[in-house]
Amino acid sequence: MYDKPPAPSPIAAGADVAARVATTIRADVRAMRAYAVAKAEGMIKLDAMENPYRLPEPVRAKLAAVLADTPVNRYPDGGADAVKAALASALGLPDGVALVLGNGSDELIQLITIAVAAPDAVVLAPDPTFEMYRIHAQLAHLRYVTVALRDDFALDADAMEAAIRRDEPALVWLACPNNPTGNLFDETDVLRIVRAAPGLVVIDEAYYAFAERTFIPRVLQFPNVVVVRTVSKIGMAGIRLGLAVGHPAWIGEIDKVRSPYNLNAFTQAAAPVLLAEQDLLANQAAAIRAERARLVSALTALPGVTAFPTQTNFVLARVPDADHWFAALRDAGILVKNRHGVHPLLAQCLRITVGTPAENGALIAALQTLAAC
Ligand code: PMP
Repeated sequence: MYDKPPAPSPIAAGADVAARVATTIRADVRAMRAYAVAKAEGMIKLDAMENPYRLPEPVRAKLAAVLADTPVNRYPDGGADAVKAALASALGLPDGVALVLGNGSDELIQLITIAVAAPDAVVLAPDPTFEMYRIHAQLAHLRYVTVALRDDFALDADAMEAAIRRDEPALVWLACPNNPTGNLFDETDVLRIVRAAPGLVVIDEAYYAFAERTFIPRVLQFPNVVVVRTVSKIGMAGIRLGLAVGHPAWIGEIDKVRSPYNLNAFTQAAAPVLLAEQDLLANQAAAIRAERARLVSALTALPGVTAFPTQTNFVLARVPDADHWFAALRDAGILVKNRHGVHPLLAQCLRITVGTPAENGALIAALQTLAAC
């Protein structure tokens, strides 16, 4: 296109850029470490709670057709109505609820946090839990108050209630089931917190497909509950789609914080096709639950290893030396998540996502070797 290449423009000196960054970017942001996503090329990837199964050929063909037909020259539907309709029917959402969609539920966590972020507002969550609650609270200059889980990872409902009375949080996060512990909080404890909270309680059901209980049918019974879900754990992490479900009065406010076209056209085209595959999604979730049981019993049989009860697609396991076991697994081509050092309750813990039978077999064999050393 050019007759001759344009003359290179002079480049600002690195020191000048760094100085300008230092005087412009918030000090707390400069002090942050970027969220680390491990590279997993060629590895058995059991670190991120993904569904391990690829799509079957006929579904890929359907997907290819709708993606090819997507008018990429146009902005996508700002309301993503087709996706909402597909979600409402696939997830059996009750009448009267409204939905707001996010680029993954990560984005919804950010939007909900921003929506409550008045000066001096407090966000409360048990600890340890999903890290993004804290990250978004801090980015929004909110005070993030935590209450330690009990030793068995149950909610400390008395302490949560006391914190609610003391700090009057605008927002309480309850991941049900919880990440990284894997357990589902007792329903009585959850209800106590919902009733005590003066503001919004968000029940994050990222792992609903692997759990025995959901709050969705009851979401309208309480004046202060919104449920967040994601399709990431049921086979669609790549399309980045999360949803918040609740009373239209809550959802309408959260929706105002959303940027107009946050769900891209390919995600909007793909979601209805994939969500229509109800049998496929249900069978994959059932296969993961069955493999989870096999993994838990294999882990439990290993000397020195404790596998904690889980209602998710991962297992938290305490091993004799988490740093060493993590590194040895990585050297054997298996990537898990090392949670040692993150919180005292997670001492010597690895978080292991349930994979395919072959992947779990390789993991179990590697763990047996480690346990025998
Ligand atoms: N909530 C919880 C409890 C999670 O564990 C995760 C993923 N690790 C998310 C939300 C975010 O999921 P996504 O952004 O993929 O929807």
